[in-house]
Amino acid sequence: MKVIYSVVAPIYNEIENLPELYRRVKEVMDSSGETWELVLVDDGSTDGSTEKIRELAQVDKTVRPVIFARNFGHQVAITAGWDYSRGDAIIIIDADLQDPPETMLELAKKWKEGYEVVYAVRAEREGESWFKKFTAAMFYRLIYSITDVKIPVDTGDFRLMDRKVVNVLKQMNERHRFPRGMSAWVGFRQIGVTYKRAARVAGVTKYPFSKMLKLALNAITGFSYFPLQVATYFGFFSAGVSIFAIPLVIYMRMTGSGAFFGQATTLIAVLFLGGVQLISLGILGEYIGRLYDEAKGRPLYIVRDAPEEQ
Ligand code: UDP
Ligand code: MG
Repeated sequence: MKVIYSVVAPIYNEIENLPELYRRVKEVMDSSGETWELVLVDDGSTDGSTEKIRELAQVDKTVRPVIFARNFGHQVAITAGWDYSRGDAIIIIDADLQDPPETMLELAKKWKEGYEVVYAVRAEREGESWFKKFTAAMFYRLIYSITDVKIPVDTGDFRLMDRKVVNVLKQMNERHRFPRGMSAWVGFRQIGVTYKRAARVAGVTKYPFSKMLKLALNAITGFSYFPLQVATYFGFFSAGVSIFAIPLVIYMRMTGSGAFFGQATTLIAVLFLGGVQLISLGILGEYIGRLYDEAKGRPLYIVRDAPEEQ
């Protein structure tokens, strides 16, 4: 049977949300009048979500369970969703129902109009702390300004992509992934649809600050050389300053001024430049570590259990 819509949901310890997710996705997708499947990617859950997914798949054949051998992370779970989905249009949705399934129909409408990537833009966010909203807003704007790809702001992974787009994405094997950046990078006809991001139905966020920071680093290193260039700019700047400073200090000494005498001046200069050099080294390290991961060429994820055909 030909599948039109593949709905992909990454699951990490979402047992309380699973029945509601299934119910609402089914309701919305049945009302579309087209064939659909629900690809549930279990990203190493430990709270019984795995068994619940298997159970759902047993009673309803539209559910395709992909069970990871361990936790590989949200971005990788989305990737597996692309790999195992068969539909003409692939919709990525969060399992905690922050992305309302009803919005999928609006995305589908734009797809029918001929757009190949329809991303959902968060006009409002409910039930999230000011810290989360603030860091998220900063994150989107920073990424937008320093990366070479114009990644839409206030846009998460909730989006619909045409099969053509997903086939291209499947060839992009980078390890440290930023799916929303990748789907902007490929081009095609893209459009945004605004929606109101709801609060989590149950459970807590699986994105602590440390994970958000990692995602931000992946986004920046994956789509920009800017951090590497900062060291160059800074080098030119401090070299420029010293060209003026050296003759100035010599002149002051000769005229008897004691303005730059003393160890404190030297110490501050050494500490400052030492700090800048270490930060630059660290930035280099970020890129080199990523190169090393790419060179190892390990599989992106390992499945314990997954449907036969991809
Ligand atoms: N998720 C995942 N693996 C992880 C962390 C999260 O598959 O390691 C899933 C999670 O189950 C949810 C989606 O990714 O379906 C988004 O996570 P969450 O709601 O915790 O993020 P937030 O909305 O707070 O940014
Ligand atoms: Mg969420």
